[in-house]
Amino acid sequence: MVIVRTVEELQKAKEGLEGSIGFVPTMGALHQGHLSLIQRARDENDQVIVSVFVNPTQFLEGEDLDAYPRREAADTQICERAGVDILFMPTIDQMYEPDELCIGAPAIRGYILEGEKRPGHFDGMLQVVMKLLNLSSATRAYFGKKDAQQLALVMQMVRNYFMPVEIVPCEIIRDEKGLALSSRNAYMNAEEKRRALCLSRSLKRATKMVMSGEFDAETIKKEMNDVLQEADQVEYVAIVSRDFKQLERVEIGNTIILVAAWVGKPRLIDNIWI
Ligand code: AMP
Repeated sequence: MVIVRTVEELQKAKEGLEGSIGFVPTMGALHQGHLSLIQRARDENDQVIVSVFVNPTQFLEGEDLDAYPRREAADTQICERAGVDILFMPTIDQMYEPDELCIGAPAIRGYILEGEKRPGHFDGMLQVVMKLLNLSSATRAYFGKKDAQQLALVMQMVRNYFMPVEIVPCEIIRDEKGLALSSRNAYMNAEEKRRALCLSRSLKRATKMVMSGEFDAETIKKEMNDVLQEADQVEYVAIVSRDFKQLERVEIGNTIILVAAWVGKPRLIDNIWI
């Protein structure tokens, strides 16, 4: 595995590569969720590039940019063991210059749910993903369904800008109790982790209701909110179509049920595709 920190080094390292390139962009502190994306990229491509970059432009004022876990040595080992070909770990000045040309999230889909609670987050996310997709020359890029709205917006960017890359959605990886893995879970103590299970429990409850014939979104959301009482603060519970339009009734095969809530320090998100 080659570790590169500058754009120039990345371009050089890529010159030696042949065949398809699978790319996995991350912010590091890698866990099994990231690893599942990397393994899928490894299975489906000749070459695998992983990036680890804590992107400042997608953090809002007052968010956890400085506290965000950084574990370069462990991340390097994980990538090495997973058979990654190039690990790209750029500094901020490699990725940005002052007074940049910016790409903006779409006015509706980019400013509901996560976009409403974290205005500007998706602009920064799309900006860095555009850069990274261009830099990696990826044939395929792998994104987790865990960040469902992010995934939808990246797919839209690729579609709207005719970018020559296939975006591959990957399943959410959870711990044995159901908690969706996240680098931010490291902020929680044992008691908070126990309470954090109410997010996945609320989604399981919703799934059960749908399976027993209850399709009304308001009724499902009300039950979910009851289950979510162990969270410190629920930011939203939403039932949307796969392209993020609010649904009054669940449509099998075209629904995402999402939840965002604070438990202790972290703000957690989770969802289920129905
Ligand atoms: P992050 O490092 O949080 O920016 O995540 C990098 C990529 O890993 C994104 O595409 C995430 O959606 C994905 N990811 C994060 N957590 C999980 C998880 N528990 N299961 C599947 N994918 C995940």
